[in-house]
Amino acid sequence: MIQLIRGFKDILQPEGRLWQRIETEARRLFESHGYHEIRLPILEKTELFARSIGETTDIVEKEMYTFTDRGGESLTLRPEATASVVRAYIQHKLSGTEPIRKLYTIGPMFRRERPQKGRYRQFYQIDVEAFGIASPYVDAQMILMLASLLERLGVTGISAHVNSLGCPDCRPPYRENLKAFIEEKASELCDDCLRRRDKNPLRVLDCKNESCRKAMAQAPELLDKLCKPCAEHFATVRKELDKRDISYKVDKRLVRGLDYYTRTAFELQTDMLGAQSSVAGGGRYDGLVKTLGGPDIPAIGFAIGFDRLVEVIAQTLPPEECPPHVFFIPLGEKAMEKAFDLCMQLAEQGIHSETDYSGRSLKALMKRADRLAASLVVIMGDNELSTGSVTLKSMATGEQETVSMEGLIQTLVQGFRKA
Ligand code: ATP
Ligand code: MG
Repeated sequence: MIQLIRGFKDILQPEGRLWQRIETEARRLFESHGYHEIRLPILEKTELFARSIGETTDIVEKEMYTFTDRGGESLTLRPEATASVVRAYIQHKLSGTEPIRKLYTIGPMFRRERPQKGRYRQFYQIDVEAFGIASPYVDAQMILMLASLLERLGVTGISAHVNSLGCPDCRPPYRENLKAFIEEKASELCDDCLRRRDKNPLRVLDCKNESCRKAMAQAPELLDKLCKPCAEHFATVRKELDKRDISYKVDKRLVRGLDYYTRTAFELQTDMLGAQSSVAGGGRYDGLVKTLGGPDIPAIGFAIGFDRLVEVIAQTLPPEECPPHVFFIPLGEKAMEKAFDLCMQLAEQGIHSETDYSGRSLKALMKRADRLAASLVVIMGDNELSTGSVTLKSMATGEQETVSMEGLIQTLVQGFRKA
């Protein structure tokens, strides 16, 4: 038997309903905050990710699914969505008429990481981006919107971590400080960290390796060295969060995995998923639109790990069942034809009903109705049909009545509205 690829997965029912529910809730909330959907391809030119995410990140160094297509071009299955959203923003000149654009997109991402719980090679993100607003209010808005989504979904045990990563004025001098610190600790660091210390010393702070974490415990912190505008920006974000009852903490060690972030960075973490603690992450990336060849436009965004969010929610929320309202039991050819017709009519009225075309016995079909947890069954034999009436039975009470064929749909619809 051919099995699916390692690190990939099928989403089956009833879990699939959780996915739908999250998606519906997210769309509703985002739209009411003025975010609109953008749909993007999952394949992009490799260069897009190399330039935006950064050559020395884990993703670009070792996790991308990259191949040469038949025309000789290097293409990559997107490992994240921001780069593509920015590409589309620039390519379609969305900044021209109205530079402020608030967008979201939902879909699969691909990273060749070591598969484990909460970590897949094809995973899904709900990605939200806002272009053209430099103000810290939008930073706060994003964090609050994210928290609100989780709250609406009944998620508990999540903590928000926020930090500021500075800007091209205050980060470079800090980087030099950090580099000097890293030099002192070089003997305790892993090979990845040593390789990255020149080009990307901030990533050393993000290394998950225990010995690296220990070595870096006393490293200088950027938050203490922010320039005045960055410090004020961060203060406003905090002020807006403080005004509302969202629980968050300032996490000076939070750096985020990608190179393009500036100023506000944030992450939502949970202790419900073991080591894969990050459910959503994001931040401001004021330089990226320009880096990718667009105008100098600030932007900020976040991505929710859809798979992980589902796993968190599944721990507290029982999967919803979707039983049919009615189950038609046709006993005979004519009855089957009628049952089919009734199912079609009810579906048009938004009511889910089922029937069975196997020709099995009343007993067997009653069992199936029970398994499906239908609320009503309609027993219809060819004989009964000729007299123009059928038997309606409530599965909950066992009560039975004879109803006329003519009034049947109306009776079922009324029963459904009452239920
Ligand atoms: P992590 O530190 O867990 O690797 P990350 O910093 O690489 O996360 P981002 O690139 O910020 O993650 O992506 C945003 C969200 O996408 C993460 O918070 C996480 O919930 C989810 N995510 C990232 N990688 C995976 C994966 N391989 N499988 C499932 N979800 C993932
Ligand atoms: Mg990662």
